[in-house]
Amino acid sequence: MGAMIERVGGPAVRIPAGKLLINGQWCDGAEGRMIAVYDPATEEKIGDLVAASAADVDRAVQAAHRTFESTHWQKMRPLDRGRLLEKLALLIERDAEELARLETLDNGKPFGVSRNVDMKFAIDALRYYSGWSSKMAGEYIQLSPFFDDGGTYRAYTERRPVGVVGGITPWNFPLGQAVQKLAPAIAFGCTVVLKPSEDASLTTLRLGELILEAGIPEGAINIVTGYGYEAGQALVDHPLVRKIAFTGSTFTGQKILATSARHMKRVTLELGGKSPTIILADADLDRAIPGAANAIFPNSGQVCTAGSRLLIEASIFDEVTKGVAQIARGLKLGSGFDPLVQLGPLISSRQLNRVSELVSTGIKDGAEPLCGGGQVVGKGYFYQPTVLTGGRSDMQIAREEVFGPVVLAMPVQNAGDIKALANDTEYGLGASIWTRDINKAHLLAAQLDCGTVWINTHNVLDLAMPFGGTKMSGLGREFGTEVIHAYTEPRAVCMRLETSAFD
Ligand code: NAD
Repeated sequence: MGAMIERVGGPAVRIPAGKLLINGQWCDGAEGRMIAVYDPATEEKIGDLVAASAADVDRAVQAAHRTFESTHWQKMRPLDRGRLLEKLALLIERDAEELARLETLDNGKPFGVSRNVDMKFAIDALRYYSGWSSKMAGEYIQLSPFFDDGGTYRAYTERRPVGVVGGITPWNFPLGQAVQKLAPAIAFGCTVVLKPSEDASLTTLRLGELILEAGIPEGAINIVTGYGYEAGQALVDHPLVRKIAFTGSTFTGQKILATSARHMKRVTLELGGKSPTIILADADLDRAIPGAANAIFPNSGQVCTAGSRLLIEASIFDEVTKGVAQIARGLKLGSGFDPLVQLGPLISSRQLNRVSELVSTGIKDGAEPLCGGGQVVGKGYFYQPTVLTGGRSDMQIAREEVFGPVVLAMPVQNAGDIKALANDTEYGLGASIWTRDINKAHLLAAQLDCGTVWINTHNVLDLAMPFGGTKMSGLGREFGTEVIHAYTEPRAVCMRLETSAFD
């Protein structure tokens, strides 16, 4: 199903058909409206997606609800749900080259990244969560009743799946994000409706084909493509959806949280960031300088935990900024299918304009570009890797998430200064500290108000480590042991035992 796209100088890529996956069947949207899909590297049209309406979303949610309530799903052994995820992992592994090509075409990221980061993450995540399916353990609790009625009281808790989950994902790691939502949901016995980003839905649709091939029961995973304000909003508003697992911007996250209050929906929100990379004077600069560049430029800066504020002790400020700018100037931009390319385009003209405007305003406000600072002339949504200096913490460029290959470097003087500047943001997703002094590293780590602190590294995300943000960077955690709370509810069962039973 779908059409082959022949690419000059690149491999042919099959584009999945623009359909919705509802109750195990591919179908058209009720209203017939479509969204054109463009290759961000060439601006050529490569396909169409269904713009799902509220009626389409309702059909998908009803299917997920029916499956959730069905005896077949309720009685499925946890280990067998885990086996379904393992099967899906094997199918992604089998088709990883093809999926990676599709991700590169749709999102623009270099093929090597699609293959070795995005696909690997998706496969690892399915395996990681497959193991969780059989670990929904509760507790046994001894109670202390107020009265003596000749009985003794005990309780146990069991973990119950929350029900139908709406998984809403962004465009920066499309397949990985889709798996990140569906895998814990299925592991813990929920059913899912996925709503991928309208800017990058193709690999999620291809995943739908593998979901059917893996024999995942119909209705357990449904996929509706479409606009956020329409399909996404309808999913969040639907009374049968019991939980929203969202990754995206803080702006949308706030809207989702407000809408979810209506039905008291459970939510996990993985939102934006303005994460600092902090380099202390005693750091090993041979590692810290490439580390700082690597914290911001990969995926063209479209990473929620990107180290977009570079805080450097004043004595090494010039050396570090020059070093990072030199790396930035050497990065090769272009089509993700060129094996020498390190940075692809931004996702859309909208995103390109946003990044351009934020940098132009930053420069008007007094920041100086050490390198970059503009769009790349020609086809495709390319922006130059940019290092800005001369910024202040109150500037828009220091406060708003850019989501592009742009870093603002600021000098810091002492420990108090570092802590104050690092935490002077409404976000709290990540931070990295670069130093040879283990004491300084841990003392500073304890003072940073964010979800993850890295020491002498940045952007290491591991499925065993809880991930999420403080402040405006989100609510709740994904990954690690925390995830069980995100997809299950405890149910307490209280019992009275007659103490005289053996008298
Ligand atoms: P976005 O918020 O515009 O869109 C994300 C998803 O939400 C899309 O599927 C979109 O269609 C949908 N959506 C939009 N409006 C909606 C609404 N009113 N109701 C329901 N759904 C709606 O974000 P984006 O531009 O696709 O992604 C970039 C953002 O994602 C950045 O802010 C980035 O930091 C964040 N992000 C966070 C993490 C994390 O784990 N913390 C990871 C990746 C990206």
